[in-house]
Amino acid sequence: MSYIIGSPCISTCDTACVAVCPVDCIHGPIDITGAGAEVAEMTKSQLIGKSLYINPDECIDCGACIPECPVDAIYETEEDAIADGEKEAVINNYKFFGLKYEP
Ligand code: SF4
Repeated sequence: MSYIIGSPCISTCDTACVAVCPVDCIHGPIDITGAGAEVAEMTKSQLIGKSLYINPDECIDCGACIPECPVDAIYETEEDAIADGEKEAVINNYKFFGLKYEP
């Protein structure tokens, strides 16, 4: 079980969520262990199709990231994301960290 970043983050990659995560488990859009620092160096066109992701093995389900996201992209559970049509986001989130989503 993990919080999930859904499709509104794609091409947005606002890193406000990264700043508040107490366990530093939000990564990407490129560096799978970083804290999103590369976003500041990227142009809008370089961000197209890119997203931040939450490492499902590290997230402690604290909820601190939810109010920070300016595009309301974060779901409390994988099930909530899937129920809202975001199965691809769940699968891609796991894939980003070399993991496989297995409900
Ligand atoms: Fe980080 Fe908490 Fe959000 Fe999980 S729920 S990504 S631990 S801020």
